[in-house]
Amino acid sequence: MCGGILSVMKNNSSFDVIIIGLGAMGSATAYHLAKRGVRVLGLDKFSPPHTFGSAHGKTRVIREAYFEDPCYVPIVQRAYELWAELERESGAKLFEQTGGLMIGKPDSVVVTGAARSAQLHRLAYESLTAEEVEHRFPALRLSDGMVATYEPRAGVLFPERCVEAHLSLAIRHGASLRCDEPVISWNSDGGSVRVKTEKGEYRAARAVFTAGAWTTKLLAKLALPLHCERQIAFWFEPRQNPHQFASGNLPVFIMEYASGKSFYGIPDFGDGFKVARHHEGETIDPDRVNREVSRAEIDSIRSLLRVFLPDAEGFLRTASVCIYTNAPDSHFVVDLHPQHRQVVIASPCSGHGFKFSSAMGEILAAMTSDQPPLLDINLFGLKRFG
Ligand SMILES: Cc1cc2nc3c(=O)[nH]c(=O)nc-3n(C[C@H](O)[C@H](O)[C@H](O)COP(=O)(O)OP(=O)(O)OC[C@H]3O[C@@H](n4cnc5c(N)ncnc54)[C@H](O)[C@@H]3O)c2cc1C
Repeated sequence: MCGGILSVMKNNSSFDVIIIGLGAMGSATAYHLAKRGVRVLGLDKFSPPHTFGSAHGKTRVIREAYFEDPCYVPIVQRAYELWAELERESGAKLFEQTGGLMIGKPDSVVVTGAARSAQLHRLAYESLTAEEVEHRFPALRLSDGMVATYEPRAGVLFPERCVEAHLSLAIRHGASLRCDEPVISWNSDGGSVRVKTEKGEYRAARAVFTAGAWTTKLLAKLALPLHCERQIAFWFEPRQNPHQFASGNLPVFIMEYASGKSFYGIPDFGDGFKVARHHEGETIDPDRVNREVSRAEIDSIRSLLRVFLPDAEGFLRTASVCIYTNAPDSHFVVDLHPQHRQVVIASPCSGHGFKFSSAMGEILAAMTSDQPPLLDINLFGLKRFG
């Protein structure tokens, strides 16, 4: 993609900031830094948007009543503003509002957590019974005792377009981007950071590591307690009542169908109804991902559909393998490198980071400029790993 959008390498190969990884977080950081007039070099192992990391698959959920922790709410609120700005600046359609349902038992993490965030931050939300959910959204069947929290502002982002918009505009604002150029090593002498790729060597005052699933490999000395998890998204053609699955008739939803186990669904935007388990995947090496989807994996998702969305279980159009990079507590990792303070680490997002990437780009741009974080990101610090 960088080749396609004609990145221009500056004459000298010295930069203010080098960004390693131009997926969700790195593309946004490149955009925010370049917009401030910072001399940015962005490097990627592949050509984003691509299908080898964590930012592909046509759609990503964005929601505000955040069940994971209320501290994410101000960040996602800033992200909403920045996605809208990016839509205006790029002219691309990046977001569609669908509303969002968090479904589970009354004491489930998704239902109680979403309501807690909504109450704390005074967000609009409704508590719905199973009957109310099924009446409003007839595609869904809830099991006994389930309830839901409904938030009207939730919706869908189109991730490939978002990454492309950030990268195109970063270039327009003067960033140099080099794709298909993996970083193989780096070091810092305190005054600057040197980054070696398969094609050259670059130097900058600062560096930002936004390498997603490859973060632990690039920062091996830190021995970060992260693990990569194989995830599969499926797109089904509903076997009947397809209109009930269309955007406008079905909100995005996350259903905690058993304690600690969830799956999510995204309405049909023309590619089919999207459904996936959230976690429950095998631990993998990001350089050796099995991208084949087995019969057993298809049967397993079909068994969930038969219970909770019986009309969805029609022809399987396609399936796609993607990677979560998980921290033990399922929160993000965003901090300065403990030994090299001119290096910022930001990426592993435990499978729920895309929605924040517009705001994260702004936060990371500020961090590389020695400004205090624009929003509270204490939850994401490295100190918690000891
Ligand atoms: C199936 C699936 C569904 C998801 N659904 C949602 C959702 O609904 N909502 C949500 O908010 N989030 C969701 N997420 C999570 C979200 O997509 C990720 O948190 C986010 O994409 C992580 O962004 P990132 O920039 O850290 O990683 P990526 O977007 O993967 O970017 C990392 C980049 O680093 C590059 N790189 C790696 N190593 C090197 C190297 N050595 N040299 C140069 N470049 C390198 C890679 O090529 C890649 O482009 C989902 C993730 C998956 C897998």
